[in-house]
Amino acid sequence: MKKHNYSAGPCILPQEVFEKSAQAILNFNNSGLSLLEISHRSDDFVAVIEEARALVIELLGLEGKGYKALFLSGGASLEFLMIPYNLMKENGKAAYLDTGTWASGAIKEAKIFGETVVVASSKDKNYNYIPKGYSIPADADYFHCTSNNTIFGTQMKEFPSVDIPLVCDMSSDIFSRTLDFSKFDIIYAGAQKNMGPAGTTLVVIKEEVLGKTGRTIPSMLDYEKHIKAESMYNTPPVFPIYASLLTLQWLKKLGGIAAIEKLNNAKAALLYAEIDRNPLFRGSAVAEDRSTMNVTFLLNNEAHTPIFDAMWAEAGISGLSGHRSVGGYRASMYNALPLESVQVLVDVMKALESKV
Ligand code: PMP
Repeated sequence: MKKHNYSAGPCILPQEVFEKSAQAILNFNNSGLSLLEISHRSDDFVAVIEEARALVIELLGLEGKGYKALFLSGGASLEFLMIPYNLMKENGKAAYLDTGTWASGAIKEAKIFGETVVVASSKDKNYNYIPKGYSIPADADYFHCTSNNTIFGTQMKEFPSVDIPLVCDMSSDIFSRTLDFSKFDIIYAGAQKNMGPAGTTLVVIKEEVLGKTGRTIPSMLDYEKHIKAESMYNTPPVFPIYASLLTLQWLKKLGGIAAIEKLNNAKAALLYAEIDRNPLFRGSAVAEDRSTMNVTFLLNNEAHTPIFDAMWAEAGISGLSGHRSVGGYRASMYNALPLESVQVLVDVMKALESKV
């Protein structure tokens, strides 16, 4: 039986993506060859990466606005250093918002390159909120933020308007909600939440922000080289890119980001309502900054842990344990998680109330 998969990433993908990608491994496009054994330069694979790059731009509403989509490797973590390499001038500075483990990971790498101003941090409260009312130095080379904090369950609902390049790590909420994506100059995201399996990283770049640092950038870390090579500077990770294409096609067929956003809002409303109603539980993020993707919550009485854990496991739920730095539970509800799975979890929470 298929589990209700609340894993934080890698995570649930649409069932049809599992089926079609399995088929492509056995016999890709009826070619008599596996997707895994063809050249990345073959017509069949070039068509895959081209369609995937175009679909990203289309779904984000960025057509004709000077953006290029790249499928790189090295995870979102490699972007932590590619961003300063490509945007921070020699003797320049960068501004960062510190909203959690991943944001501070990005800050750590930027510090290697030059002055890194942390404009605000929510570390004082174990990152359970999004700082607001901060000011961003106008002479910074760029501002970097993290739209959704996978571990702590917070999400930025608004983004600052800045006159410097705006860079955002959208690893855990890309394609989940409508935003004016043209506000951002670089968006990056590891594939393994809303887009596909681990192994490729999506980077969407407004080309005009590149080439201004005066730095010598190693080729593999140079966005301009990747753009020039049409995202094939070296052998791309063919399988994650193909599975990402299937997920993007699935999303387009559903009605795009606006359609999935409605479903994501319904899932989040259902679960947060139960957390707020049920006297056995409390949410760990402040209400106004709650994430629709990663819902973090705790049992008020830790003695209930073994019984609750046994109940959700029995109901076919997987991946609900919280991250060690928050404790409790984390329900990751990415695009492919059906509303029915959330109802199963809510029913278990209700059943716990009548049992203890
Ligand atoms: N940023 C965010 C917001 C994440 O959630 C993660 C991974 N969970 C990362 C960065 C790191 O991604 P990767 O493992 O692809 O390097």
